[in-house]
Amino acid sequence: MTSHGFDRRTLLRLFGGVASAAVPRLSAAPRQRIVIAGGGIVGANLAYRLAKRGAAVTLLERTRPASGATANSFAWINSTYSKQPFAYFHLNRLGIEAWQHLDRELPGELPLRWGGSVEWYGDETRAARFREEIRHHQAWGYPAHLMDEAALRALEPRIEPGAIAAVAHAEIEGSVDPVRVTEVLIERAHREGARVIYPGEVTGLDERNGRLRAVRTSAGDVESDVLVVACGTDTPRVAAMAGVRVPLKDSPGILVHTPPQPRLLERVVLSPIAHMKQKPDGRIVTGAGFGGSPTTETSRESAERFLKTASQVLPAFARTGVEKVTLGWRPLPQDEFPIIGFPATRRDVYITVMHSGVTLSPLVAHLAAIEILDGVDAEPLAPYRPARFNT
Ligand SMILES: Cc1cc2nc3c(=O)[nH]c(=O)nc-3n(C[C@H](O)[C@H](O)[C@H](O)COP(=O)(O)OP(=O)(O)OC[C@H]3O[C@@H](n4cnc5c(N)ncnc54)[C@H](O)[C@@H]3O)c2cc1C
Repeated sequence: MTSHGFDRRTLLRLFGGVASAAVPRLSAAPRQRIVIAGGGIVGANLAYRLAKRGAAVTLLERTRPASGATANSFAWINSTYSKQPFAYFHLNRLGIEAWQHLDRELPGELPLRWGGSVEWYGDETRAARFREEIRHHQAWGYPAHLMDEAALRALEPRIEPGAIAAVAHAEIEGSVDPVRVTEVLIERAHREGARVIYPGEVTGLDERNGRLRAVRTSAGDVESDVLVVACGTDTPRVAAMAGVRVPLKDSPGILVHTPPQPRLLERVVLSPIAHMKQKPDGRIVTGAGFGGSPTTETSRESAERFLKTASQVLPAFARTGVEKVTLGWRPLPQDEFPIIGFPATRRDVYITVMHSGVTLSPLVAHLAAIEILDGVDAEPLAPYRPARFNT
């Protein structure tokens, strides 16, 4: 058992079939029947929020919850300097607030760590650009500031930063254990009345007179008013069943995970050599960068080599050892911005695919609930419609 009251195996047993519970009717309007395809962090947030808002939700996951990109994510909640232009920065900033809201809504249940991130550069050319990035984000109201080495060491006493030309603290960021959070939200969605089915794969649509009647699944047909597609890198295939084009590109990412450690890191640490964070369970997760990895090599030897290099920054890596190496594929849209909303041609299929899906998932769930249940277009999502790819 964990501090959350059930372990992973218990959860799998609990949701290993079709589960359902009654939800009190809050209004006279008929409850919308919503099928969510995909049980990653995006689908889990959607299931929780839509069920809590009173919809009749069925969540279908092809294998088991949090088995896609979510399982292999660094899971840093942020709106830092690469989040450009302002509309996208603002969306991610709202994403941080949505996590804070969710943390207050489910006190003590979510494996979250706040405290922000620290980032620094030793190379003067990169540091000059970094100072500009900080000023730019400060002008947008982001709580980040430059500091000195002593302040960095006070925030992260167990790191050895090496040469520092510029260092900053971004204060409101955090990180989650993405797998646990997905499990908790699916369990919560179930308590709010959602049916959770896995394994259960969406295989097609049953349409009558051009409208969705039911979603075809490996567990049988499920009558539905709206299908929400939250299938990560498989979104293009499922969206195509509804005639919707969702272009993604490949973006592999490798992370090294250590066994549980005593407290070594206080927040997300972004050094010139490696980024790293410590999960609430004590495991440290580290990787080389946030772009697509140039290699997909996941051998233990390469992971040990990487930890040796990263031990220049966190000397404790010399003795932590490697628990596992993960290779994940980011659900990265072709233009690198989220694809969220109804396509231009229909209001019975709703697409949700994005990189930064950890940062954005609670917010996207709120906004999707407004769009699907209330019929109101949410302004922060306006730049991210599927229609920009002519669908
Ligand atoms: C290395 C790496 C680092 C990352 N770092 C960060 C970060 O620091 N911060 C951040 O915000 N984001 C980060 N991301 C991105 C983030 O992890 C993803 O955007 C997010 O996990 C996507 O969640 P999802 O639920 O959309 O997709 P997934 O987790 O992939 O879930 C989709 C699910 O759909 C299921 N599925 C597929 N087809 C079907 C079907 N036909 N029927 C039913 N189910 C189906 C799959 O089995 C899968 O479980 C990172 C990703 C990677 C790989």
